[in-house]
Amino acid sequence: MHYRAVDATSEYVARLETGAEWRAEIETLAEEVEAEAAWFTALGAVQDAELWFYDQEECEYYPIAFDEPLEVASCVGNVSWLEDDRFAHTHAVLSDDEGTTYAGHLNEATVWAGEVHMRVFEEPLEREYDETTELDLWL
Ligand code: ZN
Repeated sequence: MHYRAVDATSEYVARLETGAEWRAEIETLAEEVEAEAAWFTALGAVQDAELWFYDQEECEYYPIAFDEPLEVASCVGNVSWLEDDRFAHTHAVLSDDEGTTYAGHLNEATVWAGEVHMRVFEEPLEREYDETTELDLWL
């Protein structure tokens, strides 16, 4: 386990723009407030979505695409540096018109409406390729 103390410097709430890309909007927020690291929660609705499932045997992400309106019943994630960009690692539980849920790593989704709470940390967080998992993990 790797751990460190972090100090929250500021918190923001934001409304995501209809028609924008969900995860990119969160990365834009982090960029605009110059966050070196952050943790966020969000909720709302999307017009479509692409979740990724990570196959631990193949060490590959497999996409699961949805071309229908879905509720974002819950979304949680964090922002850290991946190479020279802010990356919003985003997970979500989505639900359809029967309340059936789908969940996973949210790669992209088109915003219908979205509300985000972001807590920004003073200490930067960086990701680096990990040979065991073949994932970009925190240093
Ligand atoms: Zn993930």
